[in-house]
Amino acid sequence: MTGRDISPSDHQDKEVRKVLKKLVEQGWTLHKEGHWGRLYCDCGCSCVQVPGTPKNADRAARRIKQEAGRCPLPEDDPRRSLAGSRDEHAPSQE
Ligand SMILES: [Zn+2]
Repeated sequence: MTGRDISPSDHQDKEVRKVLKKLVEQGWTLHKEGHWGRLYCDCGCSCVQVPGTPKNADRAARRIKQEAGRCPLPEDDPRRSLAGSRDEHAPSQE
């Protein structure tokens, strides 16, 4: 089964709980999926894995916060164009 809502307070680690709680307040949704859960952003552009028993909880909390910070991604994700197609076209100015 996927998609069941879970609560940030279900997480065993204090640092991770803190990050999850803040994100949920910002509109992210937490679902019971994967190893422990997945966060889905409000606008649907991103999802972030949440490990249930991270080896390094501080680092996991930081990573979750950082990955969540990508939202909202623009429809044409600029990281993609930066990675591949910088000199695709000369900019045409009209
Ligand atoms: Zn988003």
